Amino acid sequence: MSQVFHRHCHTPLRTAVRGEGVYLFDQHNNAYLDACGGAAVSCLGHNHPGVRQAINTQVEQLAYAHSGFFTSEACEQLAEQLAAKAPGDLNHVYLVSGGSEAVESALKLARQYFVEIDQPQRVHFISRRQSYHGNTLGALGVGGNLWRRAPFDPILTSAEHIAACYAYRDKHAGETDYQYGQRVANELEQKLLELGPENVAAFIAEPVVGATAGAVPAVEGYFTRIREICDQYGLLLILDEVMCGIGRTGTLFAQEQEQIQADIVTVAKGLGAGYQPIGAMIASSRLYNAVANGSGFFQHGHTYMGHATASAAALAVLQAFEQDQLLAQVRRQGQGLAERLNQRFASHPRIGDIRGRGLFMGLELVQDRDSKLPFAPHTALAARIKQTAMDNGLMCYPMGGTIDGVQGHHVLLAPPYIISDNQLDELVDKLSLSLNQVFHSMAKEAA
Ligand code: PMP
Repeated sequence: MSQVFHRHCHTPLRTAVRGEGVYLFDQHNNAYLDACGGAAVSCLGHNHPGVRQAINTQVEQLAYAHSGFFTSEACEQLAEQLAAKAPGDLNHVYLVSGGSEAVESALKLARQYFVEIDQPQRVHFISRRQSYHGNTLGALGVGGNLWRRAPFDPILTSAEHIAACYAYRDKHAGETDYQYGQRVANELEQKLLELGPENVAAFIAEPVVGATAGAVPAVEGYFTRIREICDQYGLLLILDEVMCGIGRTGTLFAQEQEQIQADIVTVAKGLGAGYQPIGAMIASSRLYNAVANGSGFFQHGHTYMGHATASAAALAVLQAFEQDQLLAQVRRQGQGLAERLNQRFASHPRIGDIRGRGLFMGLELVQDRDSKLPFAPHTALAARIKQTAMDNGLMCYPMGGTIDGVQGHHVLLAPPYIISDNQLDELVDKLSLSLNQVFHSMAKEAA
């Protein structure tokens, strides 16, 4: 028996022994096409020579120096590059070890900002149903996934939830996408009026929803209206780009495609591309200045923040983006993936929706396309697809269960940005084979 406390206590895992490009290999040398990067992490694929080299060089010089005593060149350069590339005045980069830490930092900065500017009554956070912002208590507290929250609910910091922007499920008949987006965005205003707008610190949302809904972008106009409401009532807008940021949707920051700027953005996953654990909270000058000119101290911190080796790895990731023009590649291959998925699955009886942006795509699985009836949680559909796909040499990210009573199951795809046309063919072939095997075996069991 393994002494590792695996999160699925009873599901045996294969041992990954090496990675090369878009493939991972297990202890028997079986290859797996990595179509999800775990959870949208491995954007450069595996065994990238530039990142490997950058890590080695950094470790040989300086692996780590505590951020309370020193900064490092790698950390300074990374912050400079992220600030230069981030929209507008998102200029102040707080480097941490991952997504949840970045979100915790964002929530705490939002709160401290209002303490600094003498609005201490702003204590509420608003977020959306069907959202995920991390598993630490604060991040889970703002998350809208009831299943993930359930055991911990009594000990979570409270947050108020409004509707997700999820047109496939929630748009009314006769409503245009735009009208739908305005209606659900206006729920933020209604919630503010309920709570007293002067009592709300921030609204947090994922520009493209990842883990709890399967690559769902908002409809046009939604985020413009959200930004307008935040400005009107003086609360902060936190955009969580931990999964959809760092090029995944075809622009370095997903919010660029919404033509808005957050007050705080969080990134992680693709930033270290799996080579090092790293995340960042990037704050606007207004927020930074309030702290710098106020108490002068952001009352937060983690032992591994501003980590030199992790920063060197992330710098090499950003360098690879430039050198190999990977953002353009994401847009090109993203289109190729969307076309292949549509060709293969647009009339599939069990696939209700194909959506996403760039190399961040989701398929929603339904029992019936007309009624959009989801599969029941007891079918364990996600686990079966994951297992079958692995048996077929494909790593994809199926998720599911009933969330908020409606959502059902989906498969998330987030392959490395370096994926070739042939590998996209292989991905869709293996996915199609795996899905059909699972649906056939379920039909047989039901017969
Ligand atoms: N926010 C979002 C949008 C995420 O998708 C995730 C991870 N799936 C997190 C936060 C938490 O990141 P981490 O697992 O690195 O703590």
